Amino acid sequence: MARVLIIGAGGVGNVVIKKCAQNSEVFTDILIASRRIASCDKIAAEITSAARITTAQVDADNVPETVALIRKFRPDLVINVALPYQDLHIMDACLEAGVHYLDTANYEPRDVAHFEYSWQWAYQEKFQKAGLMALLGCGFDPGVTNVFTAWMHKHRFDSVHTLDIIDCNAGSHGQHFATNFNPEINIREITQNGRYWKDGAWVETKPLEIHQAVDYPHVGPRESYLLFHEELESLVKHFPAIRQARFWMTFGQQYITHLTVLQNVGMTRIDAIDFQGQKIIPLEFLKALLPEPGSLGANYTGKTCIGVQLKGEKDGKPTTHFVYNVCEHAECWTEVQAQAVSYTTGVPAMIGAALMLTGQWQGAGVFNVEQLDPDPFMAMLNRWGLPWQELAGVELVP
Ligand code: NDP
Repeated sequence: MARVLIIGAGGVGNVVIKKCAQNSEVFTDILIASRRIASCDKIAAEITSAARITTAQVDADNVPETVALIRKFRPDLVINVALPYQDLHIMDACLEAGVHYLDTANYEPRDVAHFEYSWQWAYQEKFQKAGLMALLGCGFDPGVTNVFTAWMHKHRFDSVHTLDIIDCNAGSHGQHFATNFNPEINIREITQNGRYWKDGAWVETKPLEIHQAVDYPHVGPRESYLLFHEELESLVKHFPAIRQARFWMTFGQQYITHLTVLQNVGMTRIDAIDFQGQKIIPLEFLKALLPEPGSLGANYTGKTCIGVQLKGEKDGKPTTHFVYNVCEHAECWTEVQAQAVSYTTGVPAMIGAALMLTGQWQGAGVFNVEQLDPDPFMAMLNRWGLPWQELAGVELVP
């Protein structure tokens, strides 16, 4: 029925590709393209599907090259699961070639560790005029967390004033230090200042300054650290009654100790330094030493638990509600040879793409997922490997 070009064949790409191949009623022709064609061929060789799968090499930072690939393959949609640095280049290529766009992480410039939606929201008029849809942030967080918020807003509340997103990875990969998604992007996110929304303004904190124990369902208590995360920005825009919005993520002590040492010795710097007559960026060098996220799955044990707690009112009474998913690393490995962080990102990207391609999510312009009807997405989460649960009246985050 539909042709899709998937750019990026890393940890998340592996899952998106395999889930699209499983859903071959919607995705009949899949082209996998990445900087190294070997990454694409490796994944393609692991798939048995009714869908037709081909591979190609592309440097997605090169807009003419991407446009040429799109024109040759003629996809109905481009799914971008390369890195945030490529977002604007791939959006430009989609506009030039006239094709819809979906990603899972917002744009970041390489030289500043700063991420916000302004750069991509600025494409609103261009996509509107072209009659094309760009769906931003359709992974788990952002992505499913935005859908959980929209769904609770629609079905469990009359008004919402407080939002807390909690993200726990209680898994163990057996490495001294590794990141669950691209190391460069992950370390840039965690080492920058924290931020949360309070009464109409952002409050800034030092990195990992605020933390508390949260008792996660199916996992138990885990120390959780306040971070800035991109969905806070879109959620307070689209649900303006929210007075406080925060994001919490768990980190083990071993992870924090390694990160602190790496920071102290300058290995997380993103400015170029001279090394034996060459310019190198320490964080890029560190990435080359760390395990690739896609390689962590084989021995990963334990679970992730990610959810959204809202507080507000229903029928004139104060209400607290929590919707969440629990995902087992080992089950993800058995199904698609991935760990749960890649899995929980890749499944929602396939679902968002399927909803766009079947016309259930439609529009011209740039959208965050909470602007679309959450109901078909919630139903597909249950069907495609990320079943969700809810807890009423229990306060996990004070
Ligand atoms: P990986 O590093 O495992 O994979 C990134 C892939 O992008 C690699 O296959 C790499 O190519 C490819 N790539 C990089 N640069 C280019 C380029 N210029 N042209 C073409 N391909 C390129 O990262 P992950 O899979 O872990 O993460 C992918 C994305 O998912 C990131 O944007 C990340 O931020 C996002 N993410 C979102 C989450 C969410 O919940 N919303 C959670 C986790 C991740 P190659 O291997 O061929 O060299």
